[in-house]
Amino acid sequence: MVIMDGLRYDAAACSMGFMNHLIQKNMASLYRVVAETPTLSRPLYEVLLTGTPAHISGIVSNNSVRLSRQRSIFHMARENGLTTAAAAYAWISELYNRAPFNPLLDREQESERLPIQYGRFYFEDNYPDSHLFTDAAALIQKYNPDFCLIHSMGIDFAGHRFGGESKEYRAQVILADSMLANLLPAWQNSGYHILITSDHGMGTDGLHGGSSLAERLVPLFALTDYLAPGIYMDEVPQLAVAPLATRLLGIRASQEMMKYSWPGWMDERIYVL
Ligand SMILES: [Zn+2]
Repeated sequence: MVIMDGLRYDAAACSMGFMNHLIQKNMASLYRVVAETPTLSRPLYEVLLTGTPAHISGIVSNNSVRLSRQRSIFHMARENGLTTAAAAYAWISELYNRAPFNPLLDREQESERLPIQYGRFYFEDNYPDSHLFTDAAALIQKYNPDFCLIHSMGIDFAGHRFGGESKEYRAQVILADSMLANLLPAWQNSGYHILITSDHGMGTDGLHGGSSLAERLVPLFALTDYLAPGIYMDEVPQLAVAPLATRLLGIRASQEMMKYSWPGWMDERIYVL
């Protein structure tokens, strides 16, 4: 599961050449996901990883610095004997492993007992995506995790500095697409189902947190046999992403997760997740 922080739907649809190549060759699907509000990172990490909105999770702002009280995909994977990993921003470690983040203890995580067993966590917003994707590829090569979260910050960082319709923002999106191009084929060959989405979009003014379309509409690319290739115009609720991920992992969704029929779902027996 790849979360590209701050990636708008229109930027993904227009500027990610490799991802769109996969769609044109019937190897991937693209959905229009409507992000929950507030369109802030920490509440939306909780949406994507536990399937619960801010008023239930209590993670209502970026200042909610504490462990999640929900069952995350990491927790559920561990309960089912699956191996977990993440190359992600420190806030992910704070939500699911340990809070507050201690760089000395938490930056490199290898612990059988924590929800995220194998972690590489960065704590600067300008941590290069090239390093982040290398962290992720190394984790996958070394530990072969059943569930791996890969969470990049370069697009969000460029958006804040230059705005969501700037040349610099688009350049980061194109760069991230190239990095995916170099890595996705090997991960597919290893048998991974791959979801690529974002927490929130980005305003023209370089801000997010509100409810404009630029802030709320994000992409979800899916590379999996369970979803028919193509571009879907239906607006999918972001709360439907977590139960899709659990389904692809072969584990039961939690009680808190919404039931949702994904357009293009291929297996009629389990149409409702
Ligand atoms: Zn941001």
